[in-house]
Amino acid sequence: MTLQLFDTYEREIRPFQPLTGQSVGIYCCGPTVYNFAHIGNLRTYLFEDLLVRVLRANGYEVNHVVNITDVGHLVSDADTGEDKMELGTKRTGMTAWELADFYTEAFEKDLARLNVQPPSIWCRATDHIKEQIAFIEDLEDKGFTYQTSDGIYFDSRKLNSYGRLARLDIEGLQAGARVDQGERKFVTDFALWKFSPENEQRQMEWESPWGIGFPGWHIECSAMSAKYLGDYFDIHCGGEDHIPIHHTNEIAQTEASRGTRLANFWMHGYFLQLDDAKMSKSSGEFLTLDALIDKGFDPLVYRFFCLGGHYRSQMTFSWDSLEAARTSLNRLYEAAYSWGAPGEADEAIVGRFFEALNDDLGMPKAMAILWEMVRSDLAEDVKKATILRFDEILGLRIREWEPKEVEVPGEVTALLQARKNARKEKNWARADEIRDEISALGYVIDDTPEGVKVTRA
Ligand code: AMP
Ligand code: ZN
Repeated sequence: MTLQLFDTYEREIRPFQPLTGQSVGIYCCGPTVYNFAHIGNLRTYLFEDLLVRVLRANGYEVNHVVNITDVGHLVSDADTGEDKMELGTKRTGMTAWELADFYTEAFEKDLARLNVQPPSIWCRATDHIKEQIAFIEDLEDKGFTYQTSDGIYFDSRKLNSYGRLARLDIEGLQAGARVDQGERKFVTDFALWKFSPENEQRQMEWESPWGIGFPGWHIECSAMSAKYLGDYFDIHCGGEDHIPIHHTNEIAQTEASRGTRLANFWMHGYFLQLDDAKMSKSSGEFLTLDALIDKGFDPLVYRFFCLGGHYRSQMTFSWDSLEAARTSLNRLYEAAYSWGAPGEADEAIVGRFFEALNDDLGMPKAMAILWEMVRSDLAEDVKKATILRFDEILGLRIREWEPKEVEVPGEVTALLQARKNARKEKNWARADEIRDEISALGYVIDDTPEGVKVTRA
């Protein structure tokens, strides 16, 4: 089956063909580097990594661009409030430039630990101020802008197709607008350039034809994608929250200036939800990859957890489901390890696996095929070669995995004994607590028919 992908713009699954030759241009909205990425953000980059790997498996060369937002992303989507970066400087005491470097490095480290392939090009908003100003000038020449006392705005009503991506009900939005519209003429208008406040020296600001200030958040993506991929390229990705505002505004800018809808396919990864609340960086409390590692989880367990859901379904995170992911990943590693050296892969099963993926990245189905293969009576060297082919997509480093020698410290042995007693007394809550305590010490316990097995996390 040739590759089929869901395009949010048309709301349909369509066959994918590169616009030119065998090379695919793909742009993914990257992080705002004022804090660590949370595991929800990371789910979106894992989805994009899956997409890139599937494109490569289809024989395409992939030119993958990811931006770093290090200026201009304001606290409120209505282009009001503080710049998240300036806010980060107050929280940490770092300068805005130090903050950007620090969290960009942390982000790249997270991706490496999750075995996400690095993009072909990283681009920072602050390295492309000239391009953004030129883009805004072009919009101004074409009559799509107006000035207020605090900046230059995009006049969304000048563009007939505004809001098409999100199927926005523009009139309804305006009628129900509760946000402070400020001097904006219409509720969907957005900032292209903001002036520095008169009474405040911003750390990040630049000269422009309109006065000293900084670019709005959306313009960086239109300007940088045009620079690296052209005015119309193959695929644009991001999380589902970007559909109604950020991507809508990127399209508006590019359509007004270049006459294209930016990308042939618009693809969105659905959210990771926490048990109770939506996770958000700005709400302060959020889970990072390091928090998972501190609890004894290998980052690849989180990768495996995410592979369990389709990118177009929301997933709910819980420690129990992460624990379950770890148990099955360990089973997979141990099985694959026990198969020894690879022979020839079973091409029929490999074909079915890739067919599932070519059907809009059908990972849950591909996983079912994987487990069917694991349980099959194929020869072990065939299984080994087959799983290694799958791992080009899964990225679980199956070839490198080895059982870890475990020397269990006395503290853990004592806890194991206490857990055994708790279970005997049917005190399941206490037994679970002890499991968490063992896990916090970096050990994993697995109840098998042969007894309790202890491994290092
Ligand atoms: P940000 O750093 O806030 O600009 O977001 C980086 C990326 O993470 C964007 O593509 C967002 O759409 C995505 N994102 C934000 N929250 C979540 C979440 N809870 N689950 C999945 N993706 C998310
Ligand atoms: Zn963007």
